[in-house]
Amino acid sequence: MYIVPAESTRFSMTNFDFDPDARSDIWNRLIEELEDYSKQAEALPVSPTLDQQEIQQFVNRLPFETPVSPDAALGHVIEGLKKYAVHTPHPQYYGLFNPRPAFPGILADTITAVYNPQMAAWSHAPFAVEAENRVIRELGVKFGYPEPTVDGTFTSGGAEANQTALLCALNRKFPEYAVGGVRRIDKKPVLYVSAESHHSLIKAAGTAGIGRDAVRTIEVGPHQQMKPDALRAQIEADLAENCAPVMVTATMGTTGTGAIDNIGPIAEIAEEYGLWLHADAAYGGAVALSGKYRGLIDGIHLADSITFDAHKWISVPMGAGIFLTRHPDILSRTFRITADYMPKEAGGMQVTDPYTHSLQWSRRFTGLKVYLTLLMFGWEGLDELIGRQIETGNRLRRELEGAGWTIFNKTPLPIVCFGREYYREQPGAAMEMCNKVLESGRAWISVYKTGGVNALRACITNYATDAESVAGLVETLGEVEKRG
Ligand SMILES: *Cc1c(COP(=O)(O)O)cnc(C)c1O
Repeated sequence: MYIVPAESTRFSMTNFDFDPDARSDIWNRLIEELEDYSKQAEALPVSPTLDQQEIQQFVNRLPFETPVSPDAALGHVIEGLKKYAVHTPHPQYYGLFNPRPAFPGILADTITAVYNPQMAAWSHAPFAVEAENRVIRELGVKFGYPEPTVDGTFTSGGAEANQTALLCALNRKFPEYAVGGVRRIDKKPVLYVSAESHHSLIKAAGTAGIGRDAVRTIEVGPHQQMKPDALRAQIEADLAENCAPVMVTATMGTTGTGAIDNIGPIAEIAEEYGLWLHADAAYGGAVALSGKYRGLIDGIHLADSITFDAHKWISVPMGAGIFLTRHPDILSRTFRITADYMPKEAGGMQVTDPYTHSLQWSRRFTGLKVYLTLLMFGWEGLDELIGRQIETGNRLRRELEGAGWTIFNKTPLPIVCFGREYYREQPGAAMEMCNKVLESGRAWISVYKTGGVNALRACITNYATDAESVAGLVETLGEVEKRG
């Protein structure tokens, strides 16, 4: 841990910077601390005890009025993050798609902070923009889009990508929407999601101005997949009410249970009624990178647009969302505005300024996290990662069943919703068990209502979680349960 010097003479901060020697010194110490965390995350309790008063006192401990030494400042921040956070890099974190960030992405975020390329205009950061374009193009091809049609943009996350999808769908259906807004649309636009889809789509509807009540929630079948017949019936009912169906979202790997909607029949319905088909593959889209498992999301190329989060299964640090589309004109139609003060050097070239292509304006070089991961690990490395985690998930299912647990969900993805048979009759049992597991500090799991049963949920979301880790989880569960 850092030692706070009584009076720091070693570091001089003039003109808003440290001198170069001081900087290298600070860097070197920081790297030691960060490496220490990477090596020893396992030794920490997975989750903290939550005492807001204590945490606020800690946050207020050092003054803002006058500077403290860099040692003291960094030591304080690191101590706070170690003590008061769920340690998602811990191999016993079976949580909500928050990965242990892999090293290339960590390097990328550091490089990005130092070079700080401005991604709004191509001419300010041509390497960075073209690097992102390459990632977008190759990823689009992995999802089955014909290369010349692939377009897309990096986003802050899946929520922004889903919002982008809705805005594109609205702009395609109602060319007057971008300028005139919803008041120019004479019918109520509505969109369709399944009961298990991500709630960011509800937020998207609200902020797009069509209202949260424009979201039609379609019933799911026994394995939490959208029922195409129910979708068709709802569209018919909406047409009869003089509503305008705009978009349907197929979730390719739901957040709760990992259900993959059957996109084929949904695509047929979308085609028939002229709806924009969006595939929310924020998590599950990663299987497109696996030679062995890509068939699990067969048909995703039929989608007009796709959400994919690099900060989930492919383990780059947050936030790295991606929006992909096979309609190369739609992003410009949705977002292009011209601003007199923007750089024009690239005027004569065939380039797209990213700010005309996305919700964001000034933006960090998000794509470097994926670009550098691909340089260092290759598509090959990602293929191996996805396959291994699917197999670790299968192992967890087998070992849980072996220990007498019931599995309540059905998915090929490494998400397991499980419990005891009596959980069906005792809705509080899973939460009670979950809390005890969290209190033990030995693992992080959650509770998810799966087909009407409150079940425990464990997801393999950390590349360091292996066979030994899952055996450890099953053992922890047994011990915590026995202790009562
Ligand atoms: C996580 C998730 C989102 C939201 O993505 P963020 O990156 O958290 O904004 C959307 N859809 C699905 C299916 C998700 O799992």
